[in-house]
Amino acid sequence: MTFRKISKILNDVNTILFPHLCFGCNARLYRGEKHLCTICRDQIPLTEHNYEAENEVDKVFYGRINIQKAAALLYFEEEGIVKNLIHHLKYKGCEEIGTLLGDWFGSILKSRDLPLQIDLVIPVPLHSRKRKKRGYNQVSKFAERLAFHLEAEYNETLLVKRSHTKTQTTKDRWLRYLDQEGQFAVENPQDLHNKSVLLVDDVITTGATMESCGKVLLQAENVRLYLAAMACVR
Ligand SMILES: [Zn+2]
Repeated sequence: MTFRKISKILNDVNTILFPHLCFGCNARLYRGEKHLCTICRDQIPLTEHNYEAENEVDKVFYGRINIQKAAALLYFEEEGIVKNLIHHLKYKGCEEIGTLLGDWFGSILKSRDLPLQIDLVIPVPLHSRKRKKRGYNQVSKFAERLAFHLEAEYNETLLVKRSHTKTQTTKDRWLRYLDQEGQFAVENPQDLHNKSVLLVDDVITTGATMESCGKVLLQAENVRLYLAAMACVR
């Protein structure tokens, strides 16, 4: 028996003993399926909100912040595949869902041949305590993969979420850009000047988080702001 055959048998035994389940519907995955079963891949509600025509996500931010364009890969619904995906990503330690969605959205955006020149991709930050508890920022992998496909720089240290309770540290004195509530801050504003920045989050509902973060980023000189999310509500 060849090594390849043995490895295939061991793989099959492993799948029988520890079946991989679909993140969308919990059904058992078969060979060739990864993270999502074929049915979920087929039925997942894709938005078509890319950076082409004006879309519903753009409209969420009208009159609130000055953005170039906004986009979201999926529709978030109260029940179903997308809700399950986001739940696994945020609360079940399945960080790889971010990679899956980032590669999916990244290749869609790339295939459209859009006149989109992004310099910097920045995820909406988590407070360090929350990040420590979860083990990761659920937006990081998604944002990282988007940066890869858009051939942009990825930076997750520039924009930070601050603590309300903590007294001002020495470092805080150097923070130059803050939002009104003092929740988010940019530590090295000069790194943003004259850049096209893509701010990334998981789900856009009211748009309040993106708005707060966007306001901080837009304080930098000549910043063009784009937004992207894994999902948005209809
Ligand atoms: Zn499924």
